[in-house]
Amino acid sequence: MDLKEASKHFINVYNRNIVFTKGEGVYLYDNNGEKYLDFGAGIAVSALGYSNEEYKQGLKDQIDKLIHISNLYFNEPSIKAAEYLAKACGLDKVFFTNSGTEAIEGAIKLARKYAYLKNKESKGEIIAMEHSFHGRSMGALSVTGTKHYREPFEPLIGGVSFAEYNNLESVKALITKDTCAIILETLQGEGGIYPASKEFITGIRKLCDENDIIMILDEIQCGMGRTGKMFTYQYYDVLPDITTTAKALGCGVPVGAFAAKTDVADAMKPGDHGTTYGGNPLATAAVCKVFEIFEKENILGHVNETAPYFVEKLNLLKSKYANIIKDVRGIGLMQGIELSIPVNDIVVKALKKHLILISAGSNIIRFVPPLVIEKKHIDIMYNVLDDIFSDI
Ligand SMILES: *Cc1c(COP(=O)(O)O)cnc(C)c1O
Repeated sequence: MDLKEASKHFINVYNRNIVFTKGEGVYLYDNNGEKYLDFGAGIAVSALGYSNEEYKQGLKDQIDKLIHISNLYFNEPSIKAAEYLAKACGLDKVFFTNSGTEAIEGAIKLARKYAYLKNKESKGEIIAMEHSFHGRSMGALSVTGTKHYREPFEPLIGGVSFAEYNNLESVKALITKDTCAIILETLQGEGGIYPASKEFITGIRKLCDENDIIMILDEIQCGMGRTGKMFTYQYYDVLPDITTTAKALGCGVPVGAFAAKTDVADAMKPGDHGTTYGGNPLATAAVCKVFEIFEKENILGHVNETAPYFVEKLNLLKSKYANIIKDVRGIGLMQGIELSIPVNDIVVKALKKHLILISAGSNIIRFVPPLVIEKKHIDIMYNVLDDIFSDI
């Protein structure tokens, strides 16, 4: 296939040069039938790997029944999906969206509405974090901490300031009487795989409680079992007022959600928010299947069993190539290795050896494999990276 020709009708925002045609387990196949081991999982989406029979059957059954009806009516899969999700995240009420960025939009709107009901004069200020990533729509971009993503699209929504991640004092210094929300990823993904410290998360919870500020934890990437708990904040014994999820929530069918405690959620009244597709029967049938398979196949147990082996292998690479690898960090099956060299070269070299890796920032390999990855696949990944690093 002539990829230059294939690119002709696309707005050019991605650098890509490979066509995948099918997936099976933790492998993808390109249009020449070549097989690749996938440690990117469609950017932390395909938690169950590819072509899971039960998942596919659930979708096929739903397609035969009902695909879409709008939110003017209830549909059965969404009722069940809302119950599953509320239980998994420990919050009371959910709103389904089509993507992560829309979940963030909803979370911001909900926080602002909550503040507005308290005080109509509220300026709805938001504190976000440096190096954060919350999405590409205008609201989500406004709270995204990477300047080069934001700058060309300004003016964005106002009233946003940025604190240093894992520095509670820097957050404290930005709080005003108009602060309505503090938003952060429990484990920063795109920004370079930085887990939050316990003091930081619990400190922010306390600041929010003391000042009646909404705490929003973005778990779009780190939630849904990726780190070994359904939601990463469950490691910190903290409950946010609002959380956002997407990526692995539908394991490939586009769906996201924001969820909130009742007293916060109830700030939204009929007419305040909406979506045509969000939570439609097909998307939420996928969500139901994902939760059911997670339970049946004990995905969390598998993550917790596999992750220590994974980390051990990454640390082995670090001790072998201390000149190239500066740091290994992460939680569960969301790991990063920080390099002293540009990550792109490594990603390209790995792809040539049929290993799919993705990056975060300019010098971090971001490992977000399907959660069903096995030790034997981790061994293959190790050997490929061992080869590449030993050549450098
Ligand atoms: C991917 C991501 C988003 C945006 O999700 P989209 O579905 O791409 O809109 C938001 N927050 C985090 C933490 C993410 O990783």
